[in-house]
Amino acid sequence: MCGILGYTGSRPATPLLLAGLARLEYRGYDSAGICVASSNGNGRADFEIVRAAGKLPALVERVRAERPSGSTGIGHTRWATHGPATVANAQPLLGGGRQVVAVQNGIVENHAELRAELSGRGYHFSSDTDAECIPHLIEFYMSEGMDLAGAVRAAARRLRGANAVVAMAAGEPDRLVAMRVGHAGGLVIGTGNGEGLVASDLATISPHARDFYYLGAGEVAEITAGGVTLTGLDGSIISRPPSQVPEAPARPRADLLSGTPPPVP
Ligand code: GLU
Repeated sequence: MCGILGYTGSRPATPLLLAGLARLEYRGYDSAGICVASSNGNGRADFEIVRAAGKLPALVERVRAERPSGSTGIGHTRWATHGPATVANAQPLLGGGRQVVAVQNGIVENHAELRAELSGRGYHFSSDTDAECIPHLIEFYMSEGMDLAGAVRAAARRLRGANAVVAMAAGEPDRLVAMRVGHAGGLVIGTGNGEGLVASDLATISPHARDFYYLGAGEVAEITAGGVTLTGLDGSIISRPPSQVPEAPARPRADLLSGTPPPVP
């Protein structure tokens, strides 16, 4: 089970992503990576991707050398299912035109069929993974005129198997789009304080947000620093109140912990 993390706000994304990936380590992984998006001033973002095979210290070393900067980004710890634990197979993975970058948890069961279709459309694959068809597919639908959220929904409808994905597009800076099809581990979104976050578990993002939304199977979330919009795979708006996290753990039930134990029958 891999770990997924995303951040958009005004703080530097790189340290937040590295700290978050460290909190996700318990899930197990064999390689890791981050992608940070920095605005290039033309309403577009440049992606800086840093990936490493092995554990987080290897990634941190590369990050120190490359110093990706920007205040929107995604991170991933990969548990390889298709292709060995190499840098080329580590995530985040780019679409062929560098317009889309994505992280994925799960298995794309129809990856061979999608790879053949996308290769036929001119998309060049640079990894052995099942996951790489996802950024290519999203990029293809964006090239057909869809926005990032619409393209993620269209891609999600094509995937077989259980998958959780977070994607960014160069043409839509400061925005993350998350989706879930099937049950490939959870995704939870956090908002508040002018920041938007998404992660595989609540503990990773709970210190940074106020309102939380658990993404259900068949749901898509558009996440910005200003909040989140949830839709179904058909684009219909889903409205539900956020969950709040209690500030302190619930008190133990004194009535259950004191007194004489009940007689053994
Ligand atoms: N199926 C992905 C791969 O082999 C792994 C995704 C995950 O870590 O859950 O690249």
